[in-house]
Amino acid sequence: MSNQASMQSTSSQSGEPLVQIRNLKKYYEGSGLFGGQPVKAVDGVSFDINRGETLGLVGESGCGKSTLGRTLIQLEEATDGEVLFDGTDATTISGAELKEWRRNSQMVFQDPESSLNDRMTIGEIIQEPLDVHDIESPRDRRQKVKELLDTVGLRPEHYYRYPHQFSGGQRQRIGIARALALEPEFIVLDEPVSALDVSVQAKILNLLEDLQEEFGLTYLFIAHDLSVVQHICDRVAVMYLGNIMELGPTEALFDDPANPYTHALLSAIPEPDPTANRDRITLRGTPPSPRDPPQGCPFSTRCPVKIRPEEYRDLDDELWLRIEILREVLRERSRAEKSLSDRARELLGMETRFSDINEIHQELFGDVDVPPRIQTHIDEVEQYVQATKDDEARQYLLEEFGSECDVEQPEHHVVGDTGRVSLCHRHKGEHDEPKTVYEQQLTR
Ligand code: ADP
Ligand code: MG
Repeated sequence: MSNQASMQSTSSQSGEPLVQIRNLKKYYEGSGLFGGQPVKAVDGVSFDINRGETLGLVGESGCGKSTLGRTLIQLEEATDGEVLFDGTDATTISGAELKEWRRNSQMVFQDPESSLNDRMTIGEIIQEPLDVHDIESPRDRRQKVKELLDTVGLRPEHYYRYPHQFSGGQRQRIGIARALALEPEFIVLDEPVSALDVSVQAKILNLLEDLQEEFGLTYLFIAHDLSVVQHICDRVAVMYLGNIMELGPTEALFDDPANPYTHALLSAIPEPDPTANRDRITLRGTPPSPRDPPQGCPFSTRCPVKIRPEEYRDLDDELWLRIEILREVLRERSRAEKSLSDRARELLGMETRFSDINEIHQELFGDVDVPPRIQTHIDEVEQYVQATKDDEARQYLLEEFGSECDVEQPEHHVVGDTGRVSLCHRHKGEHDEPKTVYEQQLTR
């Protein structure tokens, strides 16, 4: 099944789609001396946002959530793909048409400290969008702003005050009032409560829910805090390295994550009851650079249930892990911004701080039993590294120990009967499901 066909099937949940995102990409072009590669902040995502729903978008910092949000509402120009609102592709419109279109989609920003202009009064801030779009008479606009203040739980006299006179929660109310001014249908909420005290968070979340009900709003709710998403969202999309790894109804996704990345993300939430015996999965390493994402599955460099090549299926798990770590070490070395002098020394064939493979070897394989058939390959790899041929070393490891997870981009597979989709090779019939593999690993 193609990505698009399967992603579209998730929209049948409730209501019809308001926003249809198709293969959307946002790349930031590289700059500087060696910066040839673009940053692939959003790398081909497809999903629908249904009218009246709250769709959560979660993932670690830097995975592309804000970029996706900004690109959806045309604050940034898409590199490729479509964003259909009621069937119209917003990425193709411009000028007066775009200005008019923008009225319908607004954004609330993460940091209420920096997103409000401190030199304007609250009234001016909220009224600005109305002025820009020349809505009604100045008098009516002022009236409208006073109504908006009331709508978000502020008082009419706040009109003449300045942002610095308000608390974080109140400032976020101001940001919300401003987003509502043009009566949009769709609002991107970019971590709207992340910067607020826990006690204030609940109030803002309640306000957002009330407003949704009152005005029939559709939300894309961006968060890195999964517990917030769990309470407020109808469906959740999990993002990693510019891709949607899993998308489905909140409850199904939280109760029984289908994708290895979702599983790992959920297992990292602190348990309210510390004695509860939940399986924790610690992810090793850091996400790859969005300038140089893996060729296969985005999560392949860290996935605890990555598919092994046939001939290594019964290799000792610990040894297999060490080999994976060796691969990760070489990847991170190539990623580390090499200084000019390192680069120069390397080109001259001199030793650099990156050359000490003996130390790495001792750390990784000193305490495990390495059978000869594996030792041969490790020796080969280390010779490449000694000769400062890291790329060849990586290539060798890929060819010997890599699997489809490393080289083939997975597809979105429909999982279960709730219209959920998950991006993972393991959902293909010939493999064990990720969940089964986790269970096996955890019972060992
Ligand atoms: P998130 O909101 O999930 O934390 P972002 O969307 O802010 O992630 O960033 C995704 C990636 O794109 C990051 O690697 C970030 O450094 C990069 N990025 C974001 N904005 C820009 C920009 N204007 N220019 C270049 N790179 C950017
Ligand atoms: Mg962000």
